[in-house]
Amino acid sequence: EQNLFKTGAKIIERFEKHNYEGFFVGGAVRDYTLGRSVSDVDITTNALPDEIENLFEKTIDVGKEHGTIIVLMDDIPFEVTTYRVEGEYTDHRRPDNVYFTQHLTEDLSRRDFTINAMAMTQAMELHDPHNGIKDLNNRLINTVGLAKERFYEDALRMVRAVRFMSQLDFKLADEAREAIKEHAAALDYVAVERITAELEKLYRGINVESAKEMIAHTGLLKYMPFFRHIEAGEYVSTKAESLVQEIAVHIYKDSSLSQHLSALKLSNKQKTAIRESLKVIEALEDGIDEKLIAYRFETGILTGTDAIIRLNALLGAQHAKLLEQSIAAKPDLVIKNRSELRINGNSLMSALNARGGPWLRDCLDSAEEAVLLGTVNNNESEIINWVKSHVKNEDGNI
Ligand code: ATP
Ligand code: MG
Repeated sequence: EQNLFKTGAKIIERFEKHNYEGFFVGGAVRDYTLGRSVSDVDITTNALPDEIENLFEKTIDVGKEHGTIIVLMDDIPFEVTTYRVEGEYTDHRRPDNVYFTQHLTEDLSRRDFTINAMAMTQAMELHDPHNGIKDLNNRLINTVGLAKERFYEDALRMVRAVRFMSQLDFKLADEAREAIKEHAAALDYVAVERITAELEKLYRGINVESAKEMIAHTGLLKYMPFFRHIEAGEYVSTKAESLVQEIAVHIYKDSSLSQHLSALKLSNKQKTAIRESLKVIEALEDGIDEKLIAYRFETGILTGTDAIIRLNALLGAQHAKLLEQSIAAKPDLVIKNRSELRINGNSLMSALNARGGPWLRDCLDSAEEAVLLGTVNNNESEIINWVKSHVKNEDGNI
């Protein structure tokens, strides 16, 4: 980490050597000042994108028109962005135009929150025209400029505000809270992928609870895809530790919500994780099976005792207790992951002389479970016979 800044400083030095400016900026400066760990360091400069490309051997163009180039220094990628100001916002999500500028302070003014609008020299001296340090010390999220204007021009910032509440365990300034109440509806204009990306970070934060309360309290909930269908009291009552857990728990409680899931445009990986979470919750409802739970830990579908216990705390203390016992029991597992299963998608398709499709995954899931529970031996022909006699679709065919 210390290294990240040291390596980044080489980039800044090169800028300065060529009579440009360069500063560390944004999240890295905030987290460094807070004493939090820093995983990526962004740099801002008055050099134009072409000039950045000319100055460094290894660069990747990731958004030249917005001024962003990745510079690889000692094989570490740094996002380097030309000082930028933004034109008018007419659609609540993207500026109509961006303009490059020669002035650091103009670039800092376009940034969302005071704590994100600090720059730092390579000697680690702060440039802080918006007094972000004061808000850092007071653990407060304040917009740069008028909250109403900043949220209205880019509605995603409202979700970012609650994301930072959770991530940093900060309070939201009153002015910002009132502005969210007023402009929550503008969230409808924002691309759902950008919202879910912020929500992912929110749920990985350290004070998810306060962020969720703010989402419900300000009415932001009413404009969030999928979540808008959950009643506020219900929404704040759960204690999920990831976005997918949150979704799974609500679908578990009200299965009609699943019809709204597509609105979140989740990745296949996220959808699988939701299905797995649901399976676990349902398995717990039927009575706990130690082997299935142990297996889900083994394969990484579930991580952390704490997570699963909390997931169960939602469903009643007796579940949490049973679960603890089953984790502690560490039962022997016939297979440790799916590749140890003696069939796979291909062998199943050829044995059944069938073409691939969603049924295949269901078949493999069922076979995996049957092997784990000892209903069938982990042997190719036995599994195939078991599948033939047990797994059928509505038409009675595989
Ligand atoms: P982290 O990396 O911990 O998620 P971050 O502060 O780096 O936090 P990013 O989303 O990576 O957050 O954005 C980098 C910086 O860009 C922010 O610190 C902020 O200065 C600026 N920024 C990002 N999104 C916006 C936005 N919607 N409006 C204004 N400024 C923004
Ligand atoms: Mg960042």
